[in-house]
Amino acid sequence: MERKVRVRFAPSPTGPLHIGGVRTALYNYLFARQHGGDMILRIEDTDSQRFVPGAEDYINESLAWLGIGIDEGVREGGEYGPYKQSERRDIYREHVKMLLDAGKAYIAFDTPAELEQARAATPNFQYDASTRGGMRNSLSLPADEVKRLIDGGEKYVVRFKIEPGRDVVVNDLIRGKVTINSSILDDKVLYKSADDLPTYHLANIVDDHLMKVSHVIRGEEWLPSAPLHVLLYEAFGWADTMPDFVHLPLLLKPDGKGKLSKRDGDRLGFPVFPLEWHDPKSGEISSGYRERGYLPQAVVNFLALLGWNPGDDTEIMDMQQLIEKFSLDHCSRSGARFDFEKGKWFNHKYLQELSDAELAQMFKPVLEANGVDPNAFDDEYIARAVGLVKGRINFVSDLWEQSRFFFVEPTSYDEKAVRKRWSEDMPRIMGELIEVLKGLDDFSSAAAEPVVLAWIADKGYHLGNVMNAFRLTVVGECKGPHMFDITELLGCDETVRRINNGIDRIKA
Ligand code: GLU
Repeated sequence: MERKVRVRFAPSPTGPLHIGGVRTALYNYLFARQHGGDMILRIEDTDSQRFVPGAEDYINESLAWLGIGIDEGVREGGEYGPYKQSERRDIYREHVKMLLDAGKAYIAFDTPAELEQARAATPNFQYDASTRGGMRNSLSLPADEVKRLIDGGEKYVVRFKIEPGRDVVVNDLIRGKVTINSSILDDKVLYKSADDLPTYHLANIVDDHLMKVSHVIRGEEWLPSAPLHVLLYEAFGWADTMPDFVHLPLLLKPDGKGKLSKRDGDRLGFPVFPLEWHDPKSGEISSGYRERGYLPQAVVNFLALLGWNPGDDTEIMDMQQLIEKFSLDHCSRSGARFDFEKGKWFNHKYLQELSDAELAQMFKPVLEANGVDPNAFDDEYIARAVGLVKGRINFVSDLWEQSRFFFVEPTSYDEKAVRKRWSEDMPRIMGELIEVLKGLDDFSSAAAEPVVLAWIADKGYHLGNVMNAFRLTVVGECKGPHMFDITELLGCDETVRRINNGIDRIKA
């Protein structure tokens, strides 16, 4: 019988969610939606040492911003809760006992100093079948001694008793069968009496089983843990319902070798976190995609293609299309290079899909930040200005550089352009241009352009010099959209005023 697809994203709240973690969440979500399955968000907070306040909220906010929906979780509820591991202590305690009773796990009392000593005495020491007999645990000590120690409040851990010499097969849907020999595994700690909490391995397996997870989709860094997880499933007698494993390829540095890190982002100037993060301890602020001006759809599309492709060269896909096209068959095994220039390109593309009116609304805070009161302009005017320059932007904030002259008159003029274009007779020629413009009945781009060009030709003026001088007075520099589109939006009065001011201010 085909079982229902149930996947989980299981972050540990130890800091801001890394962009690689976001991709893991996204792939889980796409897979769940495609199969009509369930997406679980489980908070794996059993490592009390590494708990960071605010990290859980950050995870929720990030996923919500990106449109990665959760069906079951701490906030959403669900029939397999609680969804936060620190609230499931009873469940883990009970499962630790099951393993102890079955002889699949044992209690160990070794102190950190004793472990250190063992490591120093034996090269490549590993706590396993070959060494456990010489350590202080319930396999080496008499039963009454074990009882005495526990009753006396001695701190202990529970270790998984790994049988050596077995081939353990992890069935990975991207990588195929990955086989390793159990002799290289150590007797992993599953539970610590000191804080009455399980370790990641035990809690993860117990929860995946109890929450009926069908597919474990997670980053490649967890592949080394997978054989242990397979053995744990077997030890509990759950081998029949073991989930399928999918270990996603690493995100690699934009340049050079190795895994993408926060330092790469700092060094090359791009965020590695979805949202800005304020570190509660150090006060350090790390930039986020949202605050940098990325659209969530662009981030989703960009991340979806880091490790997966649709089988053809389609690049722009919204969430719905991604859900339809996603498949594990087209996930790559090798690492995906993080190309942040491509990320900008996606943002550019998605910005072009927005209407001018929508962009104008997003632009208003930027205007304000630059000292322009957006209420002094019609929405229609702002939208038209935005429409003329949006093809040149990667971020909403770029709109300012591209369109500022629609909102503030230039008071200084690009010197190089002045030297090149502003000859001694330019004030006179600009004076004539003013008369030509004033004589127009229709100031639209289509109507004004032929008249002005005819006047230039008629007088035998140099087209490039006159048009660039004209642009200098209106824009302040020799760039921007089509000149007559600019003047159409500014209107005749404002255009004429700027030319007059230019004549006064620009010294040849
Ligand atoms: N808590 C682990 C993490 O932080 C979960 C790994 C897994 O998905 O099994 O990524």
